[in-house]
Amino acid sequence: MNVIENLKQIQENIQDACSKSGRNPEDINIVAVTKYVGVNKAEEALEAGLTHLGENRDSGLLSKWEALGEEPQWHFIGTLQSKKVKNIIDKVSYIHSLDRLSLAREIHKRADRPVSCFVQVNVSGEESKHGLDPQKVEGFIRSLENYSSIKVAGLMTMAPHTNDGDFLRECFRTLKGLQETIHSLGLPHAPCTELSMGMSNDYTIAIEEGATFIRIGSALVGND
Ligand SMILES: *Cc1c(COP(=O)(O)O)cnc(C)c1O
Repeated sequence: MNVIENLKQIQENIQDACSKSGRNPEDINIVAVTKYVGVNKAEEALEAGLTHLGENRDSGLLSKWEALGEEPQWHFIGTLQSKKVKNIIDKVSYIHSLDRLSLAREIHKRADRPVSCFVQVNVSGEESKHGLDPQKVEGFIRSLENYSSIKVAGLMTMAPHTNDGDFLRECFRTLKGLQETIHSLGLPHAPCTELSMGMSNDYTIAIEEGATFIRIGSALVGND
């Protein structure tokens, strides 16, 4: 797996998806998901010009952070146990998995600066997936108003594992609609301008439907 070659291919695909949907490739941020790989691959991603790295465990984030420092923008992308928040909070720029008040309370308690968070939504209704029911998202976001360390940057979803492009598109479109609704509320703590959606298998569809952060692991750095 050559990260530079992979990235070139991904950038071409981003370009195509943007042309199809009238979007600007500059609006798409690639989060290199390095949870499957070691520090060397993460370093290759940085050398290839990427600036966003994503990890789903506190241990993985910490070991890479110790090796690579605070220059990259670190994203926490997985289920986050409240008791782990203190380990990562001063190292991450974004948390993609805010899905409950107890977690919000802990982030607020531990952070000494505002943290950009994505509220995770379970669009497809799969039981195995974390995230809020779409109907609960607005109420949840309103209830974050008093946690001044939390800035709701946008919404995040993990689409189901399927090759059914129409179904995936429907999921992403639903999240986009919800993001626009929240954005239009004009809540000071929830600008909600961003959409974290799209992984190795489905990022082109996600981009066509409005993704601004795509989270790519296997197609970019491999999965060893
Ligand atoms: C692992 C993971 C990814 C990346 O998955 P790939 O299919 O390898 O691109 C993206 N988002 C989350 C939340 C993940 O856990």
